Amino acid sequence: MAVIRDVMPAFQLFQPTSVADAQRLLEQHGREGLVLAGGLDSVDWLKDRIKKPSAVVDLSGIAELKGIRTTNDGIEIGAMTTLTEVVNNPMVQQKYGLLTQAAELVASPQIRNQGTLGGNVSQDARCWYYRAGWPCYRAGGNICYADTPVGRNREHAILQAERCVAVNPSDSAPALIALDAKFVLRTSKGERTVDAEDYFIGPDIDITRMTILQPGDLLTSIRIPSTWAGAQFYFEKVRVRNVWDFPLLNVASAMLLSGDRIERVRIAVNGAAARPLRLKAVEDAVRGQSRNAATGEMAGKLAVQGAVPLQFNGYKIPLMRNLVKRAIGGVQEAAWAS
Ligand SMILES: Cc1cc2nc3c(=O)[nH]c(=O)nc-3n(C[C@H](O)[C@H](O)[C@H](O)COP(=O)(O)OP(=O)(O)OC[C@H]3O[C@@H](n4cnc5c(N)ncnc54)[C@H](O)[C@@H]3O)c2cc1C
Ligand code: SF4
Repeated sequence: MAVIRDVMPAFQLFQPTSVADAQRLLEQHGREGLVLAGGLDSVDWLKDRIKKPSAVVDLSGIAELKGIRTTNDGIEIGAMTTLTEVVNNPMVQQKYGLLTQAAELVASPQIRNQGTLGGNVSQDARCWYYRAGWPCYRAGGNICYADTPVGRNREHAILQAERCVAVNPSDSAPALIALDAKFVLRTSKGERTVDAEDYFIGPDIDITRMTILQPGDLLTSIRIPSTWAGAQFYFEKVRVRNVWDFPLLNVASAMLLSGDRIERVRIAVNGAAARPLRLKAVEDAVRGQSRNAATGEMAGKLAVQGAVPLQFNGYKIPLMRNLVKRAIGGVQEAAWAS
C-alpha cells in the first residue's frame, strides 16, 4: 500500500482567548512556536512543509485583538481586524483614507475577508526560492539564488539589499508609515510601542526576519494618531495582474498644503527593499516647495538615488521614480511613462 506523505507535519494547536495567554504560550515555545492570524501566509508554510513548528498559536479567539476604536488622539486597530473591516470602516475612510486605499488594493475580496491587518504587516518574504524551501541566506544557508545572472528576480529589491534581495510585499505597510502609525507589541517584558517604520527590518539587522518581532512577541494593535487626519493622500500600486496581485511597487504619501506650498509631507514606498522605505530625503527636499511637476520630478530623481538593479528588475527604477514623482507632484499619467 502506498504511503501518503502529503500531510502537514504534526503540531500542537493552541487557541487562547486572551493576549496574556497567547504571549505566555509563545514565550514557552520560543522558536518552535508560530502565530496564526488569518492563515494566508502562515498556513502556506505549513502545507508546503517548510516551516515545521511544534506549536501553533491561533489568535482568532482573542476578542481584544479585534476591532477599530477611537482613542484620545486618533484610532486604534486591533491586529486581528480583517482588511475588509479596515476598508469598510467609516472612520478610517473619512480621516485616514490612505489606509482605506491601500487595504482595498490588497489581493482579492476573499483574501481581504480572511487576512488581518496584523498579518499583512507581519507577512514573510515572497521570494520564489525561499518559499519553495531552497536553502538560501534567508533560510539559514549561504547563497542567494535570486541574485545570480539567471535568477528569477523581477520582483526583487533595487535598494538596501544585503545578501538577500527579497522585498517586503505589504500594501498596508507604506500607508501606515505615511500616517505615522505606532505599532503596539506585547513581549515578555510587557507592552512596547514602536514607530511603524521601525517595525520593519532589513537583512542588515537580521536576514531571517522581516520585522522586529522576536519569537514570543505579539503585535497587538496599530494606533494612528490624528496628525495626518484628512490630509491630502496619494496611494498607487503597480502589479502584474490588476485582478489581484502583490505589488511590484507601491507608494503612499500624506501631505499638508498651504495654497500650493507643501507644508508637511510623509512618503513611503514598498516593493523596493526588504522593508518598506520612508523617503526622508524626499520629504526634506520638497518641504516648502510648490506642489507641481518640477517638484515631483526632483523628488522622483532623489528617491531612486543609489538604486541598483538586478538582471531582470531594472524597470523598477523608472517605475519608482514616476510613482514618487506623481505622489509629490500630483501629476496624473501612467507610472511606466518615462
Ligand atoms: C494569493 C495571495 C495574494 C496576496 N496579495 C497581496 C497583496 O496584493 N498585497 C498585500 O499586501 N498582501 C497580499 N497578500 C497577503 C495577505 O494579504 C495577508 O494579509 C497576509 O498573507 C497575512 O495575513 P494573515 O492575517 O493571513 O496572517 P497569517 O498568514 O496568519 O500571518 C502572517 C505572518 O505574520 C505573523 N503574525 C500574524 N499576526 C501576528 C500578530 N498579531 N503578532 C505577531 N505575528 C503575527 C504570522 O506568524 C505569520 O508569520 C496575499 C496573500 C495571498 C495568499
Ligand atoms: S532573495 Fe533572499 S529569500 Fe530569495 S533566494 Fe535570495 S536570500 Fe533567499
